[in-house]
Amino acid sequence: MLGLSRRSFLASSALAAAAGLDARVMISSAFAQNTAEPAKGYYKYNVGAIQVTALYDGIWEKPHDPGFIKNASVEETKEALARASLTTDFVPIPLTVVVLTINGRHVLIDSGSGGGQWQPTAGKLARNMAAAGLDPREVKTILISHFHPDHIFGLMEKGTNKPTFPDAELIVTSTEYKWWTEPGRVEKLPEARKALGQRIQSVFPQWKNFTLVEGEKEVAPGLRLINAPGHTPGHAAYLVASGNHQLMISNDTAYVPALLAPHPEWQGAYDQDGPLAVATRKALIERVIAEKMMVCGAHFPFPGAGVFQKDGTAFAFTPVLA
Ligand SMILES: [Zn+2]
Repeated sequence: MLGLSRRSFLASSALAAAAGLDARVMISSAFAQNTAEPAKGYYKYNVGAIQVTALYDGIWEKPHDPGFIKNASVEETKEALARASLTTDFVPIPLTVVVLTINGRHVLIDSGSGGGQWQPTAGKLARNMAAAGLDPREVKTILISHFHPDHIFGLMEKGTNKPTFPDAELIVTSTEYKWWTEPGRVEKLPEARKALGQRIQSVFPQWKNFTLVEGEKEVAPGLRLINAPGHTPGHAAYLVASGNHQLMISNDTAYVPALLAPHPEWQGAYDQDGPLAVATRKALIERVIAEKMMVCGAHFPFPGAGVFQKDGTAFAFTPVLA
């Protein structure tokens, strides 16, 4: 499926020409992506007195691969995507980053994937942050859910690894930080993760602005860390509470809900400890249903928030923002 119409192709060429850009560059990058961009790359909503700004970083149009989900076939994956009215040509994995504004202070949840460091169809966080009127220099706290590329590469500049947010406090679970930076870790990682492990080990221990957290601590007013291990050993979710309102920032616990709401037992290549990730996912979804809470996730459809309901022995996800 080619989501770009002839009209928008012509419009992007005309825009490129008007902006004095090389039209050939614009055309090739436009054709590299099938999924339409959101009309607006940011979306603001409130949880009580806390403002949430969802920022679109981009999408990974992941080619189908039999190794993607250990206990499901490519056909079953396609069936789940079709039932959610998504394309079956590839697995659409969008990426959304959240900023919370609490008493005028901006708290960023993860850092996006960084320009040109993850997928060519992502790395749009900085642009959408500016469009939303947020100045990255005013971000003084960053909560990091886990150390996968799409969540941490936005902390480091491409090539130099210079910190993008040198003045921000970086909060992460002690488990996650210690696991990735432990001596001998890189050698034990699977081949596909070795480069990530090397980058983490060569950069993060030099930085002095990490705060390591143990337990389910309140990390900012109205914001509590929730342990959600399995996707990675120290993966964290975050619970936002203000007045009678709550939002669970689930990060990668429910990954792509089109796949994992109807099949919470699926163990993906993205989950480091499959059985633990499944148990954590089921418990977190049961909790948000019991507490009638809105949920957002890094790989939910933009702008990323919705509700879960029981559906037999599995779940159904309904986006609530558009
Ligand atoms: Zn992720």
